[in-house]
Amino acid sequence: MLSRKFVFWVALHLSCGLPLSAHAQDRPVTLFNNVRVFDGKSAALSAPSNVLVRGNLIERISTAPIPVDRRADTRIIDGGGRTLMPGLIDAHWHTMLASVTAAQAFGDVGYNNLVAGDEATDTLMRGFTTVRDVGGPAFGLKRAIDDGIVRGPRIYPSGAMITVTSGHGDFRQLTDLPRTIGGMLTRMEQIGGAIVADTPDEVRIRAREQLMQGASQVKLTAGGGVSSPFSPIDVTTYTVPELRAADEAAENWGTYVVAHAFTSAAIRGAIDAGVKCIEHGFLMDDATAKLIADKGVWLSMQPLPEGLRLGFPEGSVQRAKADEVWPGIARTYELAKKYKIKTAWGTDVLFSRALAQQQGAILASLTRWFTPAEALIMATSTNAELLALSGKRNPYPGKLGVVEEGAYADLLLVDGNPLENINLVADPAKNFLVIMKDGKVYKNALTQ
Ligand SMILES: [Zn+2]
Repeated sequence: MLSRKFVFWVALHLSCGLPLSAHAQDRPVTLFNNVRVFDGKSAALSAPSNVLVRGNLIERISTAPIPVDRRADTRIIDGGGRTLMPGLIDAHWHTMLASVTAAQAFGDVGYNNLVAGDEATDTLMRGFTTVRDVGGPAFGLKRAIDDGIVRGPRIYPSGAMITVTSGHGDFRQLTDLPRTIGGMLTRMEQIGGAIVADTPDEVRIRAREQLMQGASQVKLTAGGGVSSPFSPIDVTTYTVPELRAADEAAENWGTYVVAHAFTSAAIRGAIDAGVKCIEHGFLMDDATAKLIADKGVWLSMQPLPEGLRLGFPEGSVQRAKADEVWPGIARTYELAKKYKIKTAWGTDVLFSRALAQQQGAILASLTRWFTPAEALIMATSTNAELLALSGKRNPYPGKLGVVEEGAYADLLLVDGNPLENINLVADPAKNFLVIMKDGKVYKNALTQ
């Protein structure tokens, strides 16, 4: 999207015959004076610095004063010694499913899009400037945000989750069986939330359909899941040839497959097929953790809150499965640390606006296993490294998750030092004084 905008911008400016450099000076400027920078990589804040943003990029970072022309559109923000850090990234988010109820998710598409748009604005106002959407019909929302119609984060969409019959993402009831091959799609499939594919050929078609719509990565479910009614947790759903068909399709498009998998068997099948990112992994054994590390595969984990488990009604199939999975969360974080697995962070909030509001608090809860600096590095530069796996399909190919010269200007001005007190990110309304995405200020509490 950026490149298209850029090409348009170049074309516009070449057509009026002036050199580009003259126009570069015309791009809006924001200067943050007197900030301590958390750059997304280092565990310490910088010395008091000044950061110049021109257009959508960070142009200059210096401890010396940065001179700017004081034009009408030049914005100077006195940071007062506060912390400037990269916008947060959630690597496992569902923009379309986070804040509707499970019943609504199958309902009115117009309503769901409006709810998702509103939630996207809340997401941005929580300081999350980028999300990787791992399942749901997010293409329209992404476009509306990129076009400036809706205020929200950058979205890396997967489109529909691809699943087997009875797998995680198959939300049909028994009365919907049997499926007629080539017959009518189910409601969830029609709206692009999830889609059933049971052979390598079918998987290939569905993967390519997501890519055609703009998926930056392809999502499959390789094993059972908590929230689907008929997928036991222990089950390996896809065969290696089926997963490989998706992987081939994704690789041919210059991107990758991300696979939902809890058990060692499901994870090993996915790795055999060439999958580059495993979601969850909460029931893996020690040897599988070592395999993930050895193969350089990403593990995208979520410190799932108790509230999510308790949200499943007592006595339900889903609750029983959640009870089985939850104890694995802590154990798997220990394994990830033990083998130094490339670990991404996400939340996987589903069907709860109240939980969605806890997005920052869920990040802060990582301090059960990590220092605040480690947690914040994970949610910025490390997550950005995972997003870059989208390669040729990366919708935002510049640098994300860092405060560096040349990186996208996705920035938060924090009232305090989150490296000392990570709980600051749990109360963004109070503590994030400025929120900037792509060089544009979406919140500035200093002027209010
Ligand atoms: Zn999920």
